[in-house]
Amino acid sequence: MKKILDKIRNETKLTADELRLLLEEEDEGVLEQIFQEAYRIKLKYIGNKVFFRGIIEFSNICAKDCLYCGIRKSNKNVTRFKMNENDIVKSALWTYENNYGSLVLQGGEIESPGYAAFIEQVVARINAETRGGLGITLSLGEQTPEVYERWFKAGAQRYLLRIETSNEKLYQKLHPAGHNFQRRVNCLREIRKIGYQTGTGVMTGLPGQTTEDMVNDILFFEKEDMDMLGMGPYIVHNDTPLAKQVENFDKEKQFMLGLKMIAACRIYLRDVNIAAATALQALNPQGRELGVQAGANIVMPNITDTKYRADYQLYNGKPCLDENSSMCKGCLQRRIENINETIGYGEWGDSPHFFKRTKK
Ligand code: SF4
Repeated sequence: MKKILDKIRNETKLTADELRLLLEEEDEGVLEQIFQEAYRIKLKYIGNKVFFRGIIEFSNICAKDCLYCGIRKSNKNVTRFKMNENDIVKSALWTYENNYGSLVLQGGEIESPGYAAFIEQVVARINAETRGGLGITLSLGEQTPEVYERWFKAGAQRYLLRIETSNEKLYQKLHPAGHNFQRRVNCLREIRKIGYQTGTGVMTGLPGQTTEDMVNDILFFEKEDMDMLGMGPYIVHNDTPLAKQVENFDKEKQFMLGLKMIAACRIYLRDVNIAAATALQALNPQGRELGVQAGANIVMPNITDTKYRADYQLYNGKPCLDENSSMCKGCLQRRIENINETIGYGEWGDSPHFFKRTKK
């Protein structure tokens, strides 16, 4: 590990085998050094800033049935909702007035002409009512290239489509027939080609996932030239088929793996935006701050109306269900300032990697 730490300090690219050793490391003292190095690289390439993305989880209606997800279409224990256009725009304006710089619109996956038109209209209205002042990220799953194009033209600049795992065989085990790994990869490529800042991500600690799989995930991010990463530890949701495959859910181990993956991505990819996922905080009260100290630079305060939050649970124990947007803002601000980071209020916090690759 000393040789690996020296290579990290010199910013010499790690091999796949070295990434594997990093992800398998368990010694607390060595891990502390790895996180410090990842944080140093974050400071060098991003600065001591954390950017907020206000996230509006506007609908839990989903046509898909991912075996790990609490809002999968077969889960009958969920009350389904979809916010209307005015309420989504109202939340977006709250984000703008509170100087967050950017927002994320996230919902279950629906492909239909009516849905495409609805999102197009919402994006166009947010853009018009903020005079183009908010960075808009969409996280709305697989769509046709034409739909991605329409939403881009309406004013969305970024798209997040998590691949969840880059191992096609594992992907098939986590999804029912009809969910197609290759289509997801093709969607990511289309999104990137259209001109979006493009993000993907994986879950770490999935049943059946190996450390090699996670190393390959990092290599996948590099090969697909991703600008943004949204990754989180897998957390069981009781009303899902995958929960039955998990015998002993080790919170601490899952948490550390999540941090190690953030650090490994920061060390290997350097200039991408990396989110400290809310799932980290579900496993550790200081999860998001520790995520930043392991190399993340994005935090996504929930700005969804409190009345909907309980029905948007992809996993057990999601935090902040009872808080409103203002409480989330104050709480996160304190958390970030406590670790001597600055919040990039009013800034979009675009991915430096995006500008580098589009200047080429
Ligand atoms: S992970 Fe996404 S696509 Fe899959 S069931 Fe959940 S909301 Fe739908």
